[in-house]
This record gives sequence, C-alpha cells and structure tokens, in this order.
Amino acid sequence: MKDGQALCVNNAGGFFLASPECLERLNADHLKESDRSFLQTRGHIPDSRDRLGQAAFAFAKAQRLLRPSQLDYLILVPTLRCNLSCSYCQVSRVSENQSGFDWSEETLSAVLELLDTLETRHIKIEFQGGEPTLRPDLIGRVIEKCARFERREFVICSNLQNVTDELLALFDHPEVFISTSLDGDPATHEHNRTERSDATNQFLANLSMIVRRYGPTKISALPTINPTSPPDIDDLIDSYTRFGLESIFLRPINYQGFARKRHKDAREQGREWREFYERFVRRVIQRNWEDRSRVLEETYFSITLRRIFYPGRERHVDLRSPNPMGIDYIVVDHDGTIYPTDEARMLSRSGVIDLSIGTIESGWDSEARDLLNRYASNEHDPACRQCAFQPYCGRDLVDDIARYGRIDLPRYETEFCRRHMHLFGFVFEMIYDQDPAVRYSLARWLRLPATPTSFGEVLA
Ligand code: SF4
Repeated sequence: MKDGQALCVNNAGGFFLASPECLERLNADHLKESDRSFLQTRGHIPDSRDRLGQAAFAFAKAQRLLRPSQLDYLILVPTLRCNLSCSYCQVSRVSENQSGFDWSEETLSAVLELLDTLETRHIKIEFQGGEPTLRPDLIGRVIEKCARFERREFVICSNLQNVTDELLALFDHPEVFISTSLDGDPATHEHNRTERSDATNQFLANLSMIVRRYGPTKISALPTINPTSPPDIDDLIDSYTRFGLESIFLRPINYQGFARKRHKDAREQGREWREFYERFVRRVIQRNWEDRSRVLEETYFSITLRRIFYPGRERHVDLRSPNPMGIDYIVVDHDGTIYPTDEARMLSRSGVIDLSIGTIESGWDSEARDLLNRYASNEHDPACRQCAFQPYCGRDLVDDIARYGRIDLPRYETEFCRRHMHLFGFVFEMIYDQDPAVRYSLARWLRLPATPTSFGEVLA
C-alpha cells in the first residue's frame, strides 16, 4: 500500500493497515501494550486463555471455507443453435437451422426427473445456449416442474433478437429474469455481435420494450470488452443508463470457444485491461457522487467487496475457495452431457480437452469429478498460503486449463492470480480511500443503509 504502509490479513480474513513504524515493531516482535490490545480485541491474535475468542476465530475461518453440499443451481442448455454468430462467442454454437442440437425427449425427461429428486428448497436455474429462447417450450416445461420449490429463480440468457409472444409469456413470470449482452453504443454492439443494422435495431427495440414492460430490475446486461480497443467509458456507461440499467459487469474477452480462435491475444490481460478497469470503476464512483438518484456499479468489484466483508454469503462460482465441481451446481448440455462449469463445456466444445464429468442419465458422481475436486481449493497452494488475499480469493482450475493446458503453474504466473492480485489491491486501495465519494459508493455496493466514516482500521 502507499506510504510504506502494509495490509495485514489474518487467516479468517480480518484485516488492518499497519504503518511503517508498526511494521517495524511487528517484525522485531517489540509490540507495545496498545498494539497487543488492538490485535487481541480485533481477533487477530486471540489469547490462548480466551476460549470464546478462539471459537469466534475458528468460526470466522470456517465461514470462509464453507463447502457447499447441496445441488441447487443448474445451468441448462436446451439447444446449441443460435441466430447470431458473435465474434466473442464462447460456446462454438451451431446455426439456427441445424438439427440434432436440441435436448431429446429422453434428456428432457431426465432433467425433469432430476428436479423431482433434489432435496433443496431453493432452486436457481440459468438457461444458456446457443440461444435458449429458440426452445421456449423446453424452458416452460422446466419452469412448470419447479413449482414445488419454496423459492425459485430463473435466468434466461438471450440475445433478445427475436422476442415472441410465447417468450413474453415466460418473461411474465415474476421469478424469471433476463440476462443479455450489450457491448456499448449501437456501432460497437453491431461490430461485435449483430453485424447488420436491422438486427441491431431489432435488439435495441426489444431491450427498450422489455425495460418498459417490466422495469430495469428484470434484466441485466454485460459488455464484453476487447482490452486492446476498449470503448469510451462514458459512452459505455451511457449506453446502460439509457435503458435504466445500473449494474455493468465488465468482462474482458473470455479465452474460450470462438473467442479462442478469433481473439488469440485474449489469453493474457495485460496492463491495458487493468488500467481501463480502474479508470472505469473510478468514473462510476464519480458519477454516483454527482448524481445520487441511482447507484451504478461494476458487478465484479461489488462481488469482491462483499467477499471481503461478508464471509460465506457471496457464492459467485468464479471467485470462491474451495470451489468444488459438480456438487452444488452443474451444467446440462444440449446432448445431456454434464459439465462442472460453463467454461468447462466451452473448452470441451472447442476440442481442447474433455472436461465432462458424466451424463444426465447415468449421473456425475464420477472419477473425473473426483480428480478435479482434489485440486479445487487454494488452501494448500504454496503461493496462496503466502498471499494476504487468500481468505477472499478463489481457485479456478478450468481457467488455468483453458489458458495454459495445465493446473500446476506457480500461481503468480497465471492470469487468474495476476488479475485478482490487482483487483484485491485496488479494492483495498478504495477501502482505505477517505474521499467521501469513494466511501459513498462502497457503502451502496455493500448495501449499507448509511455511509460509515471508514471501512478499515489503521494501526499507527
Ligand atoms: S491473488 Fe494469487 S496468490 Fe493470492 S490467493 Fe489469489 S491466486 Fe493465490
């Protein structure tokens, strides 16, 4: 951190900022009485006689290591067909008119049977593709089957090119949400995705209609950014606020599927991406301060922030450790194959490596799954054990395989590590920034009712 200060983090994720003088005392083991008192009362060095303090520390650590055990999140791919061919496409989809790429009757029955056997009371289902809305009938059958769950959430990922009455009837369910892609202004979106102005206009008209019909909370959108030619930041934000959308999940091109072939330089995100990312978040903070009628956020920054402050609550599957595969969520592909993650499906589709762990008919309690799960934690990684960010960070085996074809590279040499090292460093810089505009946004992103005077303590 700046001015010779250092961030100190305990194994349970409690943290403080140490001044250079404090660091010297810590290194020399010459702590003042006031230092000891601070460290003990904040739970950084619980006294061995303090049984309650020890238990609290163990509990806090266990919360960080929470291992999900119940299947309650399904990513379903009812069809691999799509009516667009975006250059960023990660799934190597097939064209709209090809046959043999939708769920068979047997696969549909097996999915419905699976839903019958789940013990969870809450279910989340994401419909992916291809373009899943080409088969609204299959989506409808799944939604119908979920009536027995106490809480249900469905996300239909769609390019919104063609919104039929049948599809609108599905969107009308209050538990159904829509996720789409919006790469910025119409020209950028057209260049990356729709390729023709009539298709772009159709998409924008559908997006407007959906926001008018349901309000902006029904829909979320994500831009895919090419770090070598990023869009103008205000233009990008404006293209979202124009539709009342407040969350923007900045994603660099994912090194998967079609993108792997067409955007070879996407394997590593360098300095350009990180600089763009920081400038974007700072601009969002500034705009939130200037106009407090709504709260804009960069979604991954908010997720990271909540992972720091709310252990065990943030279940984002790309940023967790342990990150068990095929346990609490699975992907059911168009042919009934089960993958542990959507990225694993993309890698397999691209012919890089088969990461399937089973099939919907035969199950996925397989050797392949067990093998992956042996390495699905950062807990014992020698580099991560030395890293201050370990309690908040994650483990993404599939990302390593996608980029390097192996999972045993030293952590520091992986893009996952470099990206998160930068991100956590940036988030903590913001946590210790005293600018009221920064504190205002951080408080909103943490869903706090008011803005605290500080987010972290300093030991002088
Ligand atoms: S930032 Fe890198 S070293 Fe630190 S915990 Fe994450 S992956 Fe491990």
